[in-house]
Amino acid sequence: MNTTTVGGVKITFFGHASFTLEGNGVLVAVDPFAPMHLQHPADVVLHTHNHFDHCDEEKTEKVSKFNTVLIGTNCRHPCRLLKIGESIKVGGIGILAVPAYNVGKPYHARDANCAGYILAFGTTRIYVAGDTDEIPEMEKYKCDVALLPIGGTYTMDAAAAARACAKINPRIAIPVHYGYLDETKGDAILFKQLVERETAGKTEVRVLTPA
Ligand SMILES: [Zn+2]
Ligand SMILES: [Zn+2]
Repeated sequence: MNTTTVGGVKITFFGHASFTLEGNGVLVAVDPFAPMHLQHPADVVLHTHNHFDHCDEEKTEKVSKFNTVLIGTNCRHPCRLLKIGESIKVGGIGILAVPAYNVGKPYHARDANCAGYILAFGTTRIYVAGDTDEIPEMEKYKCDVALLPIGGTYTMDAAAAARACAKINPRIAIPVHYGYLDETKGDAILFKQLVERETAGKTEVRVLTPA
């Protein structure tokens, strides 16, 4: 299954860190990189940061229409640039940019303005972590669903993501950023087991498999 619905928001996973969120009549495409075959173009494209596996202009073009709103925090192509901590409303959904950075890895420096996002579709809140390690800011995040990277190398691995999950305390966690690039293998089943242990079963892990 590549899709699941939580609180009226349909989440579809396409591989790597590419997925869509659809709710309140708004289709949001996040980091189009793995091929995305959409029924209709996205209303919003979110880029978490400017790396090739997240901010791919050609793939972005493919899922966009003339009035798609592009949002990023450190992308070089024209888009609505948010500062970390800044939020905007697009078509009735709220989008807040939150920090994403490495601790003890060099790829996403704290001052590089890479982002995660917390999206509010009415009362349903979805946290898109971006390329990040487990960071203290996560304790303040409130969300129903957390999409967390588990591939290691550039981001958290399964164990770190499970610890992050215990901090964030979402109802549902979905692993991303694994099993696509050679150096981000990850293990979704291990992640599921560790989350069940770390959160004493309070967080349910849904593993989505790209179609
Ligand atoms: Zn990156
Ligand atoms: Zn990445």
